[in-house]
This record gives sequence, structure tokens and C-alpha cells, in this order.
Amino acid sequence: MAQRRVLITGAGSGLGQALAHRYARAGDKVACVDLDAARANLTRAALPGEGHLALSANVGSDDAMEQVHERIAGEWGGVDVLVNNAGIAESAALDRTTDDQWDRTLAVNVSSAFWLCRAVVPGMVARGYGRVVNVASNAGLRGYAYTSAYCASKHAVVGLTRALAVELARTGVTVNAVCPGFVDTEMSARAVDRIARSTKRSAEDARRALEALSPQRRLMTVDEVAHLVWALVPDAARGVNGQAIALDGGQTA
Ligand code: NAD
Repeated sequence: MAQRRVLITGAGSGLGQALAHRYARAGDKVACVDLDAARANLTRAALPGEGHLALSANVGSDDAMEQVHERIAGEWGGVDVLVNNAGIAESAALDRTTDDQWDRTLAVNVSSAFWLCRAVVPGMVARGYGRVVNVASNAGLRGYAYTSAYCASKHAVVGLTRALAVELARTGVTVNAVCPGFVDTEMSARAVDRIARSTKRSAEDARRALEALSPQRRLMTVDEVAHLVWALVPDAARGVNGQAIALDGGQTA
């Protein structure tokens, strides 16, 4: 396929931004969706190539995802690659996790992927080609303390991925999840701040504690996660389906 039409959520920063660049460098058209309109626009404006879109939307809303789909279908006629990347990570002990926090986390981290898949996948099936990559986390493969909503949402992303992969296996559409450990982005910087405050450690010590979770003693980089997501797209990768691929330096091994 010469030029793919790629929809990436959470493309305004961190991993989503790196993903947008990875696809654009390969010659693809990218729709950058983010809650933050200014950041989505900045990402789009910096991409090489032509025909990219920037859309401001809350992925935690079914209606907003339907509108995103309609807008992109109107501009491009369809989507070849859907990367469900937008996510939030709030931290709280079980007895301090509010219903709002739980509902928001599940809506943004997993319902968004369900809504977008439901809107976009029928077009992929009709054309006989599609790639869905869900950015989960290794918190979708193991538990972490003080993150029950986040871990539940990421385990649900892995479950959604596996179910759709089996359901769509004979259509030309593959569905996979990537499961990074801590990645060097604003999200992990916020985690470092939280840990430093709650454990009265320096930011350097808190960051070292996150790095020490991986046997490689480091945070993952956005570029290596983007490369893995991108590598799932070619025809040569069509046998990789329904996988939840950890990228954490061996932490979940
Ligand atoms: P980030 O906070 O740096 O960026 C997330 C982006 O998503 C932001 O641009 C934000 O505006 C956008 N966003 C947040 N809520 C949104 C909403 N409701 N609607 C639309 N956009 C919204 O985070 P990141 O580190 O780049 O994380 C990207 C994905 O990777 C997330 O799903 C996260 O759970 C996952 N992940 C991150 C890490 C990590 O350590 N950073 C590790 C494993 C998995």
C-alpha cells in the first residue's frame, strides 16, 4: 500500500507525537487527535509531507469519537491504521479511588478504543486491509500498587485486542497491543513527581526507582515504542495478530 491513512489518538505529545512522526516519515497521512487542540495542531504542523489533519476531541466520549470518524471519513474516505494511544494515568490507593476517577480512566483508556474500532473497523473489513494497534502498558499484563483503575483499563485493552483479533482474523485486519514499561514522557515525569512527593525522595531518586523496574535499568524511549507500532503495519507482519507485546527491557519476563 503506497500511502496509508493513519489515525492516532493522543498525538499532541509524548508517544502519540513520536508515532505521528514515524508514520509521516514513512510517507503516510496522519490524523492527529488530541484533547488539546493547540498541541494537536503543533504536531500536525511539524510533520513532513502533505495531507495531515489535526482534530481536537475527547476520546472519552462516544459522540466525539463518532464525529472524529465522520470528519476523517469525509476527508479521506477511510482509515487504514488506527492507533489507540491516548491515555491517562491517575494514581490513588483503592479506598481513595473515586467513581469519577474510575469512570474517566476506563472511558479514556479503553472505551475510546472500543468506540473507535466500532466506527473504523467496518471500513477496513470492506477494503480487506486494516491495522489496529492499541497502546496498552505492561500494567495490562501485571499489577502495580495504587493504580487499580489504570491497571484494570489496560488489562481491558488487552482483552479487547485479543477478542477483536480472533473475530477479525479472516478479514485482512490485525489487532495488536503494545505494552510498554515506563516511557520517558510527560506521563512518567508526572509519576516521578508523585513518587517524590509521596515518599519524600528527590526527583532523581524517584526516577531511578522507575528505571530500576526494568532489568535494563532505564526508561523506554518514545522512538522505540513508535518503531514497534510501525513495524506491525506491513503485509509481512500480518501473522502477528492478537498479541500484547511487552516493551519493557524484560520487566514482565
Ligand atoms: P502523555 O501524557 O505524554 O500524552 C498523552 C496525550 O493524550 C496528551 O497529548 C493528552 O493531551 C492526550 N489525551 C489525554 N486525555 C485525552 C482525551 N480524553 N482525549 C484525547 N486526548 C487525550 O502520555 P504518553 O506517555 O505519551 O502515553 C501515551 C500512551 O502510552 C497512554 O495510553 C499511556 O497509558 C501509555 N503508556 C505510557 C507509559 C509511560 O510511562 N509514559 C507507559 C506505558 C504505557
